[in-house]
Amino acid sequence: MSLAHAYSDELFRTIRQIDQITLNLKYYWQKTGGKLELEDQRNFGLYPASSMLQVVIVDRNGMPLTSTHGMANEDPALSGKDFFRRHKNDPSPQLLINPPSPELDIDRMRVRFSRRLDTADGEFDGIVIVSATPDYLASFHDESLLNGGDLHGVTDANGTVLAFKGDVKINSNGRGLNHILPMVENEPQVLSLAGMHFSDQRSRMVVRQAVPQYPVTAVIALSDEEMFQSYHQARDSYRNIAVIGSICLIAFTLTGMIFSLRLAWRNQQADEVRRAYRMATDEAREGFYMVRAIYDRDRKIVDFLLEDCNERGASIAGLTRAGMIGMRFWQLFSGEHAKETFEFFVEVMRTGFYEGEYLVSPNSPVHGTWMHRKLVRSGDTLAITLRDVSDTKAHEQALAKLANTDVLTNLPNRHWLTEFLPGALERAKHSGKKAALLFVDLDDFKNINDTLGHASGDELLQAAALRLRSVIRPGDNVARLGGDEFTVIIEQVESNDDVCRVAERIVKTLSEPFHLADGNGHIVHGSIGISLYPEDGDDARTLLKHADIAMYAAKANGKGHYQFFQPQLSESLVVRLNREHALRGAIERDEFVLFYQPRVDTFSGELRSMEALVRWMHPERGLVPPLDFIPMAEDTGLIVKLGELVIRKACAQLAQWKAAGLALVPVSINVSPRQFNQGNISALFASSMAEHGIDATLVEIEITESCMMGDGHVVTEQLAAIDRLGIRLLVDDFGTGYSSLSQLQQLDLDTLKIDKAFTAQVCNGKEGEAFFMAILSMAHVLGMSVVAEGVETEEQLQVLQALSCNEVQGYYVSKPVPAAEMPALMEKRFLFPATRNLLKAG
Ligand code: C2E
Ligand code: CA
Ligand code: CA
Repeated sequence: MSLAHAYSDELFRTIRQIDQITLNLKYYWQKTGGKLELEDQRNFGLYPASSMLQVVIVDRNGMPLTSTHGMANEDPALSGKDFFRRHKNDPSPQLLINPPSPELDIDRMRVRFSRRLDTADGEFDGIVIVSATPDYLASFHDESLLNGGDLHGVTDANGTVLAFKGDVKINSNGRGLNHILPMVENEPQVLSLAGMHFSDQRSRMVVRQAVPQYPVTAVIALSDEEMFQSYHQARDSYRNIAVIGSICLIAFTLTGMIFSLRLAWRNQQADEVRRAYRMATDEAREGFYMVRAIYDRDRKIVDFLLEDCNERGASIAGLTRAGMIGMRFWQLFSGEHAKETFEFFVEVMRTGFYEGEYLVSPNSPVHGTWMHRKLVRSGDTLAITLRDVSDTKAHEQALAKLANTDVLTNLPNRHWLTEFLPGALERAKHSGKKAALLFVDLDDFKNINDTLGHASGDELLQAAALRLRSVIRPGDNVARLGGDEFTVIIEQVESNDDVCRVAERIVKTLSEPFHLADGNGHIVHGSIGISLYPEDGDDARTLLKHADIAMYAAKANGKGHYQFFQPQLSESLVVRLNREHALRGAIERDEFVLFYQPRVDTFSGELRSMEALVRWMHPERGLVPPLDFIPMAEDTGLIVKLGELVIRKACAQLAQWKAAGLALVPVSINVSPRQFNQGNISALFASSMAEHGIDATLVEIEITESCMMGDGHVVTEQLAAIDRLGIRLLVDDFGTGYSSLSQLQQLDLDTLKIDKAFTAQVCNGKEGEAFFMAILSMAHVLGMSVVAEGVETEEQLQVLQALSCNEVQGYYVSKPVPAAEMPALMEKRFLFPATRNLLKAG
């Protein structure tokens, strides 16, 4: 049973590897729009050189396109094959495992693992096939535990044999193994099968075990004869031990009379001998040996004589029992490793007992990876049992792997990193080369999580993990620290350029849109901080801390950048953290006021609206302009609270003016992308307006183009909700982003505020004017109105009038003013400077 278990685990790992290959290729296929040369990839050493695994990509018509092993071997047309049709008709991305079919495989009986490829819009675009030879699937680490007549192999869920090791075949009259030994709920199934079921007519004990996560089962068939043989051998060795055992017992009793204190210990020894015998008979799969010490004249042990062993014991050493009995230690062992083993035996002769596990040296005659050994001395003889524990070790390692693996992305986790880093640094130290630690943080991930929910967030993280893994060099590692933080470790760094190249690849791959299950492409970027061993620290902790600091600096430079650590960054980070702390406090204490800046009609100068612009009344620094804290509020998410504060203040102010009986114009409120993508901005406005009894016609919202770059669904929903409230929307800073006019028109946005950078250009020659003219004429055709921001001079105003710009705002009309100064402007109503007509006349 444990064998079947170990084999099923191994199969799982093998198939998962293949699965991974198909996933990677699918990802690359989509990413490159179908430009994939497997020949190149193979030449790059991305696949095993042997022909055990072959990869081919088949186009949507069933024609092979590219293959790792030459097109000549490929089946010319697969379109009629069942699995091809299944992929074609079923958009689900599942892996199909297809039994070998002789008509498909000219040379060998290969098992094909296939996965559907899609175009960017999810259309069927062919399939990728990884085909594996039976040997590949039936390779089994613990094969040494199997005897000559034993079989092992793998079947699919229907019991159809996919691959079997050896020449013996199972006869199931073409009906598959399910007919003889059906699986029941993934429980291991055992059955004794008569000889007629096997092509060599030998009866066997068959164990079937499901492979986790994949629809296949592992099958082990142990030959009955061989099992019996081991039993007989074990019984023989029992006789020998029994004799030795009883002699020992007498000896122990005698000594015991003299050294009563040591009696207990001696008894235990005798017990051990008996137990050793029992193990030898009970579990015939253990190797069992009796070796006698050979002494020189000074009673120094110089060799050991193998007096007896069981057949299993001999086979562990690659010998027969008859051949092994009578051999000397120095005949069996040789080399450096032999001396160690010899001394170990001598030591046990001194202490009397040893039990433990060890990793088998490659020079040892013992076949196996991990062995459990137990040695008991009895007089001049050592009774030794050896048990192959490679499978339980593999299990332990699998558990260790679990503890070291991030469940979501399957990448190594933080725990792994802390264990791995010291070794990597040690290696770097010895090789005299550098090592680099890249701290990768996704820039707008929180947005995705907040607006699309955690399932989408998880999906994005998985995709990001896959991309990261696909751009690092073989031998380098990537781990997920948690959240949206990843770490890449690069070893054998010759120069910083090596590191830059990896960082650039990461920035690039993360900046491409992520296509999630919601059907939309989402843009997040990655910021990377880099620390180098040894110059930025010589222990894991320091390097991680410095890479983290560098990452913050990279983010501060804008999204999607990388930055090497520099000592002065630490200081600026401290400054930054202090400032963030101060801003947080200021929001809690509400140290903010709104200034208002009029917006007027281009021709008459009549007041149309006033933009609310926030200022921080800092107890020490005085009035702090928004550009000093809004970007930080955006980065840290504090903008959400601050924005709420602004909305409530503006509504309260309107209510106050309304109560004073002033002729009101709307207040235009700035909303940042982070706030907008939070998804509840319309609700916030609705509640504030209701609280202060403000009509929707008195409120306007300014959003930038980048607000509309978020999740398409959320954006449209938000815009529609704002529209339903009856609030007018303006696109702020137009011209600095990437959106096109037609896009904005589709979203039903009716006013553009052209950024002041363009206004500044209108009087600087033809180009500036041309830009404005182009926008204006197109906007007017699309039925949108246009506001020019930052109008500072009469000349600018004249040009804008000539171009029929609808409204203007800027210092020429009025600077932003404290709320207290606004009533006077509302009263005045027409706000062009009094000098205007004079100037015009002059
Ligand atoms: P904005 O929305 O583009 O606001 C216009 C900025 O241009 C204001 O700067 C204003 O003082 C300035 N300005 C107006 N006319 C002229 C002019 O003729 N010449 C020049 N050179 N500048 C002019 P301010 O008040 O410093 O605001 C800067 C930015 O801070 C705003 O740019 C806006 O993006 C942001 N902001 C201000 N208040 C808020 C707020 O409550 N919430 C959010 N999310 N952002 C705000
Ligand atoms: Ca604005
Ligand atoms: Ca603006």
